[in-house]
Amino acid sequence: MKVRVGVNGFGTIGKRVADAVARQPDLELVGVAKTRPTFEARRAVARGYPLYVAGSGSPEKFASAKLPVAGRLADLLARVDVIVDATPEDVGRANRSLYDSAGVRSIFQGGEEADVAEASFNALANYDTCRGKRSVRVVSCNTTGIARAAAVVLPRWGVEHWEVTLVRRAADPGEVKRGPINGIMPTLDMPSHHGPDVRTILPDLPIATTAVVVPTTLMHVHVNHVRLARPPSGSADLVEAFRSTPRFQLFAPWEGADGTPQVMEYARDRAGRDGLPTADMMENVLWERGIRVEGRDAYFFQAIHQESIVVPENIDAIRAMFNLADGPASIAMTDRALGIAGPRVPAAPRASG
Ligand code: NAD
Repeated sequence: MKVRVGVNGFGTIGKRVADAVARQPDLELVGVAKTRPTFEARRAVARGYPLYVAGSGSPEKFASAKLPVAGRLADLLARVDVIVDATPEDVGRANRSLYDSAGVRSIFQGGEEADVAEASFNALANYDTCRGKRSVRVVSCNTTGIARAAAVVLPRWGVEHWEVTLVRRAADPGEVKRGPINGIMPTLDMPSHHGPDVRTILPDLPIATTAVVVPTTLMHVHVNHVRLARPPSGSADLVEAFRSTPRFQLFAPWEGADGTPQVMEYARDRAGRDGLPTADMMENVLWERGIRVEGRDAYFFQAIHQESIVVPENIDAIRAMFNLADGPASIAMTDRALGIAGPRVPAAPRASG
């Protein structure tokens, strides 16, 4: 029996989660809900996803756009075991009572406050905490990136203090109303909200975060300095720890992928290969040359593709809630289905001649 899944909110995150659900062997995508008949609604229909009208949306508008609908959100809720809410910030909280009264389990996104759900989730960091829960919040893109890195570092060497400066993208590529388009905007509230958010997953992590917003749409970049409790033997140890963990993509110096433009070009190049459906980068991206250990001090950069990093986490959250698999098995199954389970550092090219 497959777990029956609905997705409410079919924008940046929702459409990717729907595509990911449709590729899992143990999940069934029952339908997606949208308020308006946009190009994304047309995409849902083109992919064969039953379309439902959400919120204050009007079925007549869908009809005049010649987009067939299968009912309203309430009808979708009657047909699913779990709903993934991917609506804009704060709308998820308003939807919570609809899901509860329909007796449907619910997953919320990082734009919601932590208390929208019973627990916050990251697959590498706290899968077991969320097993059997009826509602879970998948944390934001930046928090997901930090929690994954912490899941690598914390059990191996312990953390005395962790400082992250987040260089945040101003907007997603499809957004036109956000900025800045020319400026660097420091987040003057300190710490930024990301540190406290990471602690909804790892309550004892001694982390402080600061942030600036810059005019780019591609990815966020985190600048990390971690004072470890126990020193690794050197930078190679830390490189190996990241390299051997799922959902980390390391770039070797010879690859020339020295910044986010090349990383996303790599993502576009690999799309369609190895079953990878989209030009997304669902892994934390690290540069080998940008990982350094000096005594107990570890430094590393990581890039986070905000539009897609939480997608595999939404899938694993469903498996944790329904006890379908343990954490490592779920991660492996998700990554295989999404085509991100391949070698994370390609072999160096052989010298010719
Ligand atoms: P989005 O604006 O791209 O998509 C939201 C979709 O929900 C839109 O299609 C919108 O029309 C629809 N919608 C609006 N009101 C609705 C309602 N009442 N019922 C159903 N649908 C409704 O937003 P997004 O970027 O996908 O963000 C969704 C959530 O994911 C937010 O909590 C956000 O904070 C979080 N998130 C976003 C990113 C990112 O970088 N975009 C990354 C991680 C997490």
